[in-house]
Amino acid sequence: MDFSLTREQKDIVKAARKFARGEFPDRAQEFDREETFDLSIWRKACELGFVGVFIEEKYGGAGYGFFEHCLINEEFWAVEPGIGFAILATTFGAELLSLYASEAQKEQVLPRLVEGEAIMGTAITEPNAGSDVTMAETTAVRDGDHWVLNGTKMFATNGSIAHFMLVFCKTDPEHPSRHKRHSFFIVPTDAPGYKANKLHGKMGIRASDTAELVFSDLRIPLENLVGTEGDGFAELMAFFNHTRLHICAQAVGLARAALEEAVRHIKGRVQFGKPLADFQATQFKIAEMATRIRASRNLYYEAAWLADQGRIDHGLVAMAKWYSAQTAVTCADEALQMHGGYGYIDEYKVQRLYRDAKILEIYEGTKEIEKTIIARSVLK
Ligand SMILES: Cc1cc2nc3c(=O)[nH]c(=O)nc-3n(C[C@H](O)[C@H](O)[C@H](O)COP(=O)(O)OP(=O)(O)OC[C@H]3O[C@@H](n4cnc5c(N)ncnc54)[C@H](O)[C@@H]3O)c2cc1C
Repeated sequence: MDFSLTREQKDIVKAARKFARGEFPDRAQEFDREETFDLSIWRKACELGFVGVFIEEKYGGAGYGFFEHCLINEEFWAVEPGIGFAILATTFGAELLSLYASEAQKEQVLPRLVEGEAIMGTAITEPNAGSDVTMAETTAVRDGDHWVLNGTKMFATNGSIAHFMLVFCKTDPEHPSRHKRHSFFIVPTDAPGYKANKLHGKMGIRASDTAELVFSDLRIPLENLVGTEGDGFAELMAFFNHTRLHICAQAVGLARAALEEAVRHIKGRVQFGKPLADFQATQFKIAEMATRIRASRNLYYEAAWLADQGRIDHGLVAMAKWYSAQTAVTCADEALQMHGGYGYIDEYKVQRLYRDAKILEIYEGTKEIEKTIIARSVLK
């Protein structure tokens, strides 16, 4: 078994690292404190080819796999998670479009994402539908040449800055199977009836936009249906099997950043006459962090490698997502602990990492849901 990267993949990693180190650190604290972001950094990332690398070449992408997108995620998050997310989540939903959209839809949408002309997001969660997405109540009802959407979505990443959103709606409320009641739609955010209320006060990844969305008699053409009517749930599960891999890469990146901050601090900080790094209790923390990071990376490398060959292992993806998110949270916690009181102050990057880490155990499947999937794959 060979886990080494190809020369091309190593070049991607090197370039992503160089870009992130050059662009992110100076602005990170400002974006975090002010809950804002400078889209010129996103445009620059697009120009340099870091955005949407998994998109096929004929739609303007690099035609790489989801694995290469993971590699870029890991490098960006290893420098600044909030900025990494603000840039790379601009294509959130393009994975589903790549899998299920029509040629015309792909031609219309995908090139604009890669070229830095458009931002998208995907709205599934609702006030009464979180982990159980089948409870989503936003309706799409056929009316002549149009679908008419009504309902409310929660926590939509990019909801107030996107040019269009991919929206999960109920199209067949009476279907006997709750897994056949929903479908996906492309919704332009300038359509009358689209309202985004930006959410403030997030704990972490504060450079990223999150919004509540309200659709009031929003009309879209019939051809904005993505994939097969009624198959939205199955399409969503396939989508998550790809995007959860990206979350793993985010988590490994963040954990690496936490380890780096911890090592820097404990080598310099002297207590009881020697650097903290000389105490065995501190060394054990470092050993555990490094091992967890390695294990998490191996899990997601294997899962992503399989995914890019069309051999999705649902249970393995869930293992990778749960374990890597836990790694990020644990590493950020231990890194902050090693900073003592300094870690509690926002001047220190480790405090931001601690806050940024938690979302990894929540979005795109909470840790409990991931463990449910793992158990199901073992017990089947
Ligand atoms: C910053 C941010 C960005 C987000 N971005 C997006 C986005 O772009 N698009 C989108 O659609 N959503 C997005 N979300 C929503 C996110 O995916 C949901 O918050 C998540 O899926 C959990 O749903 P919930 O918040 O409704 O929690 P709930 O589903 O109510 O869960 C609450 C708790 O109960 C547990 N629980 C639920 N069911 C079970 C069960 N069967 N067994 C055991 N425990 C269970 C959960 O694990 C969790 O701990 C985002 C959220 C945040 C905070």
